[in-house]
Amino acid sequence: MKADLRQDILADVEAFCEELRPIEEICYLEHRYNEDVPRLALKHNILGLIIPPEYGGRGADALTYSRALARIGREGTGVRTFFSGQTSIGQYPILRYGNREQWQRYLPRSVRGECILAFGLTEPEAGSNPLEMTTTYRREGDKFLLNGVKYLISNGSIADAVVAFAYPEGKTGKDRRVSAFIVDTAGEQTFVREELHSKPGMFTANTGMFEMINHPVPVENLLGNEGEGFKIAMGTLVSGRLSVAAGCLGVIEDCLAEAVEYSRTRAQHGKLIGKHQLVQEHLAMIEMGRATSDALVERAAEAKQRADENRDDARLAAEADLKVAQAKFCASNAAWEAADRAVQVFGGRGWSELYRVGRHLQDVRVCRIYEGTDEIMKLKLGAALLGKEFEAFK
Ligand SMILES: Cc1cc2nc3c(=O)[nH]c(=O)nc-3n(C[C@H](O)[C@H](O)[C@H](O)COP(=O)(O)OP(=O)(O)OC[C@H]3O[C@@H](n4cnc5c(N)ncnc54)[C@H](O)[C@@H]3O)c2cc1C
Repeated sequence: MKADLRQDILADVEAFCEELRPIEEICYLEHRYNEDVPRLALKHNILGLIIPPEYGGRGADALTYSRALARIGREGTGVRTFFSGQTSIGQYPILRYGNREQWQRYLPRSVRGECILAFGLTEPEAGSNPLEMTTTYRREGDKFLLNGVKYLISNGSIADAVVAFAYPEGKTGKDRRVSAFIVDTAGEQTFVREELHSKPGMFTANTGMFEMINHPVPVENLLGNEGEGFKIAMGTLVSGRLSVAAGCLGVIEDCLAEAVEYSRTRAQHGKLIGKHQLVQEHLAMIEMGRATSDALVERAAEAKQRADENRDDARLAAEADLKVAQAKFCASNAAWEAADRAVQVFGGRGWSELYRVGRHLQDVRVCRIYEGTDEIMKLKLGAALLGKEFEAFK
């Protein structure tokens, strides 16, 4: 995309982050969802970064979007997770796999903040292997009725619509294939939801679960064709993983900035701690993780962009999938190490929610779990090196 458009977007993201920071800090200390995130994102016009301008968005390419998410990631994994839910795994599958009528109904409203989105794949008994899901659908007249529970869903108890996945009821063998739906969440009797509070970080993000009990979904809300749900879920996860990788890059950048600043001002044993070589080692290792993650995220974003521009090219899609998995694995582990080292540099103060590094440490651990665990990313890479017949799971 044009350099000036990219700069405009990143300037708006910067302004959003600066305005959000003091509010985010208070919400974090009070352990509550930051409901000002969508409001301020709307104010700074960043709720539809990847959405084409004709639907009200900014038309950002994958590289611009990942830079935006890296900047947002500096404000915390919770804030970035809202954007992943709304855009990377919410708007993205509608844009990528939906039809014009679905775009018109959902995208402009989501850009205006009138439709918060979520992605409902995981279930209590189906995480790393989503094919073990038990949610079902059946058709009745001009609607589908969905039944099942979705668990650990970002934006899950605040979403107005969820991209959700289900098997056809009563089908077996080849006819038993997952389908994807855009599910409006209105209807207290048929869509029962709950916020999940028992988590050791990411307090300012919403994590929820919901149960659908004969929940009606109009037939026109089928996403893609019947039976294409698994393909849609996997394609969407590539977008989601890139957002996690970019957000983790932001976490590393923030940990580095905080640790460098603290090393320059805190003195012990008669000198600034930055002059102790063992403290310098922490900074050097954080910087190594930052540089590696930066390169891998950029490479992954470029591969994703090429794949988005050539939708029928399976080779480009596979390349993007792999490069994004590498970036996600590397950046999430580097961010975890960066937060750990930054806390060490801060000493006792670091192990506190009052300091940014302590908050990053609590929050960023989940990035090695959601959107595909470390183990699943490694198995993906292993199979890519060895060949399909070596796939460790089917
Ligand atoms: C805060 C948060 C937000 C989330 N947001 C969303 C969301 O928006 N939408 C959504 O659909 N989901 C979401 N998730 C769910 C997340 O994607 C899953 O937690 C994740 O995929 C892992 O699934 P699981 O928790 O069931 O763990 P399991 O799949 O039960 O895995 C447990 C352990 O076994 C390992 N394991 C599993 N299979 C294998 C294998 N074949 N080989 C080696 N090791 C294996 C795993 O790597 C892991 O270490 C979220 C989770 C969290 C915590």
